[in-house]
Amino acid sequence: MNLQVTKPTDNLMQHWPLLCHRIIDHAALIHGRQEVVTQSVEGPIHRTTYAAIRDRALRVAQKLDLDGIAVGDRVATLAWNTWRHLECWYGIMGTGAICHTVNPRLFPEQIAWIINDAADRIVMTDITFVPLLEKLADKMPGVERYIVLTDNAHMPQTSLKNAVAYEDWIADVDGSYRWHVGDENAASAMCYTSGTTGNPKGVVYTHRTNVLHAMMGNTGDAMALTATGTILPVVPMFHANSWGLAFAAPFVGAKMVMPGPKLDGASVYNLLQAEKVTVTAGVPTVWQMLLGYIEANKLALPHLKLVVCGGSAMPRAMIEAFLQLGVTPRQAWGMTETSPMGTMSVLKPPVTDLPDNEKIDFLTAQGYPPFGVELKITDDAGASLPRDGRTYGRLKIRGLAVVRRYYGSDAEILDEDGYFDTGDVATIDPHGYMRITDRAKDVIKSGGEWISSIELENLAVSHPAVMEAAVIGLPHPKWNERPLLVIQLKSGMTVTAEQVLDFMEGKIAKWWMPSSVVFVDAMPHTATGKIMKTTLRDQFKNFRFPV
Ligand code: ADP
Repeated sequence: MNLQVTKPTDNLMQHWPLLCHRIIDHAALIHGRQEVVTQSVEGPIHRTTYAAIRDRALRVAQKLDLDGIAVGDRVATLAWNTWRHLECWYGIMGTGAICHTVNPRLFPEQIAWIINDAADRIVMTDITFVPLLEKLADKMPGVERYIVLTDNAHMPQTSLKNAVAYEDWIADVDGSYRWHVGDENAASAMCYTSGTTGNPKGVVYTHRTNVLHAMMGNTGDAMALTATGTILPVVPMFHANSWGLAFAAPFVGAKMVMPGPKLDGASVYNLLQAEKVTVTAGVPTVWQMLLGYIEANKLALPHLKLVVCGGSAMPRAMIEAFLQLGVTPRQAWGMTETSPMGTMSVLKPPVTDLPDNEKIDFLTAQGYPPFGVELKITDDAGASLPRDGRTYGRLKIRGLAVVRRYYGSDAEILDEDGYFDTGDVATIDPHGYMRITDRAKDVIKSGGEWISSIELENLAVSHPAVMEAAVIGLPHPKWNERPLLVIQLKSGMTVTAEQVLDFMEGKIAKWWMPSSVVFVDAMPHTATGKIMKTTLRDQFKNFRFPV
């Protein structure tokens, strides 16, 4: 750190690079005895501490170094949320290498494509995914070795190249490694978008953006983690940078509860209760399963204070169900490209003075951005549109942790003011609350006017018999396109199309009413839990609306 003073006002403050390893160092020093509890892949509950995690992350770094991993190399993880994954996360970043979290729910060919595209040299995997990787290994010749995140006793027989059990791998070093101190603008981690159309695109985060994003997440009106709180990140570490939680929790010394592979209603409920979790975060499908389990078994959530819900819109019915359980629901909007925090639906003056019913209207919005994120809506030509809560346009974003370019691409993806086009269509109201009406590619245009599929879906799922709902636009001879409502019912429930439409009648503009309702046994989902509308459009491509 050779900072020369050339002017009397130059460099009078310290230069303290924002590096990810500083987070686990801080957690180990100040919150060293704080627990990280895991529902392990092998079965039992496992308990460790931030001090031990740092200690073992240093060993991971030391081993990677010995294995020849250099600054800027990519090391992949294909793993559930566990303490070992957290150790690898900090260990990889602490060597100056890039931690590439791969989503195991992608199609196998996409997993191989992503690992090749990133040129990952090592893959660290849970035992769950060993058979999958064995099938793909031939297609990924660049991977030099596989480290299986387990101990010797649970290590499967495997044909994977240079495979070793993680516990054996780190056993022969002492952790006497000094973290790599590089530039805070150097790459730390990468994550691919789920690629519902075309190949997935890589987003590369930097140490600086990760640390600043964690600070943003730790503000009171965001994830609101504290050293006295306990966070259960249901959102996987391979989904959009774990929404920043793998940084935010050790940052403040919050106890972490890692759910491993079990994300069903009963498993999540049991962990929330047993570990007295105060904050949890995940996608709507997970909360649907949890609420279903709570309702069926007449249970309560006495410890939980805050549930963060993002990835898809949080339906009003879900917001109300959590409020009834005494839990604050907080919707988050964001994307892989935005690290991912973009907005949070949290009440602020003057909407705090509104009657309860109107307050809930604000909670159904995607929310307003924290400091560090700027939003605008524009028309197709790029001209800014008014923040009146009615005019909708293309949602664009810039900020301290927003993508500038995709990995390996020279394509310019920002407008002249540095904003990235999210592909979402939204309104922004005078208080700053943003509301997504659709993804641009899902927009339904009926008689030249837009119909918001999200609003229709939210209304449909507030029907007590409806588990999940999706609205897609299909061709119509007169109106160009009309909405088809696709419904998956809760198990054991029956309802007719007419009953659903009667329920919706009067709650939305008449011309928004779905032209038909169809029922499916199972809704198709993407690798990140969103309803796969491309599949539905394909499934119903021969559907004709009754004339
Ligand atoms: P993922 O990895 O979840 O697929 P993406 O970056 O592909 O992440 O998804 C981002 C998109 O998810 C956003 O552009 C938006 O369309 C949708 N999304 C995320 N959060 C919300 C939300 N709270 N409400 C509505 N849509 C959301």
